[in-house]
Amino acid sequence: MGKYYVTTSIAYVNADPHIGFALELIYADVLARYARNHGDDVIFVTGTDEHGGKIAERAKAAGQIPQEYADAISNRFRELTKTLLISNNRFIRTTDPGHEQRAAAIWKQLKKDIYKGKYEGWYCVGDEAFFTDAEVKANNGICPAHNRPYEKLTEENYFFKLSAYTDSIKQAIKDGRYKIIPPTRRNEILAVIERGLSDISISRPKEKISWGIPVPGDPSQVIYVWFEALMNYITVLGYPEHADFKRFWPADVQLIGKDIIRFHAAIWPAMLLSLGLPLPKKLYVHGFITSDGKKMSKTLGNVVDPFEVVKRYGVDAFRYYLLRHMPSYNDGDFSQERFKEVYNGELAHELGNLVQRTVAMAIQYLKGEVKDVPPPEHDMKAYEEAIDACRFDQALEVLWGQVRGLNQYIDEEKPWEIAKAGEVDHLNEVLAYLISSIREIADLLAPFLPETAAKISAAVGSNKLQSINGTLFPIKKQ
Ligand SMILES: [Zn+2]
Repeated sequence: MGKYYVTTSIAYVNADPHIGFALELIYADVLARYARNHGDDVIFVTGTDEHGGKIAERAKAAGQIPQEYADAISNRFRELTKTLLISNNRFIRTTDPGHEQRAAAIWKQLKKDIYKGKYEGWYCVGDEAFFTDAEVKANNGICPAHNRPYEKLTEENYFFKLSAYTDSIKQAIKDGRYKIIPPTRRNEILAVIERGLSDISISRPKEKISWGIPVPGDPSQVIYVWFEALMNYITVLGYPEHADFKRFWPADVQLIGKDIIRFHAAIWPAMLLSLGLPLPKKLYVHGFITSDGKKMSKTLGNVVDPFEVVKRYGVDAFRYYLLRHMPSYNDGDFSQERFKEVYNGELAHELGNLVQRTVAMAIQYLKGEVKDVPPPEHDMKAYEEAIDACRFDQALEVLWGQVRGLNQYIDEEKPWEIAKAGEVDHLNEVLAYLISSIREIADLLAPFLPETAAKISAAVGSNKLQSINGTLFPIKKQ
């Protein structure tokens, strides 16, 4: 049995879950389910990133201690995984004692690449990130994302020798040992690396930011939140001694959003190389989601709440819309109107109708007993290649090509006329072909729309067809 290790980024607990993270969870879930269906042993991890000044700030504003605040938001993310039928088998929190201990141990192992130096530069606690003079100047001293002045820092910090790994990372990306998809993102990060990577500050004074993991041997400093958060991908496997780590590392695929590519495609691989560990095989970088063509914001009131959409349309409809209608290699747009159109058209009218009328005819004309259903015979190469390349949109496009083809087949064959003419053998042949094809669609659909696939399989999976329990996707008028 093969192994498959897939991770999402871990969500920062400074706000409730948003649709962008839902998208990432769903993508990762498809890969995990697909690997399981192929017989792989899968570890699928998501979780929450909980340290840093911003969390301390938010907690204070809410009148809570940081841990209380982090607990509440982390639970919301856990709820989201349940609501979206995400099949992760681990959920890591960076405040787990296991992570904290292992992160400190990793720091010690990285020692040869860590030195103390003076950091002079800028910081935005909203991003929990350091900025260069040039970046600050370009924004006239105010962070545009958070509308607050950059903080000028002059502090003694620890640094990590990122610069030492520039060439090895570049080489690994170029020769495909560390595969970054889509190609646009690969080229983007290669350009950054080719300009040269500077050493990075990886700690903050405890007096400025106390909510973090102390630097081993120096209680006056805490580890920079990003630096320890990245370690979650191996601490969760029990690095260094646990059997899971030995079996499952390197990750088969890591999923992230495009805003954190520098952390994952430059800093993280450098840390791994410093530890003498292999790099992940693949990094998939997804795009952002706008709402009705605009960036989502509370002020505009166009924030899409994943919980609400699922409540209204069901989890599979939500998964379908994101998987098929967000371009897998680009940014996408979420519009309520378009969502309804897709729901009524592709789900209710095309998929729902295909399955429902086939089952209804088989039950009405043949008492649900269709003989000699052939094994599925489609060539699924295009579907498999699409999943391998994280082209979720294309994989579903391929499937829907079949759905449409079968609806057309029904319209042309007109089984109701064959039944009227009493041609039982011919009728059986037509329905057997349909059932065989629908069984295959259910299998291929399972990683994408698990609930729907299970309902379809329950109806057509055995020799005696069962009516569908309810309507697959009841038409929404409003
Ligand atoms: Zn900022």
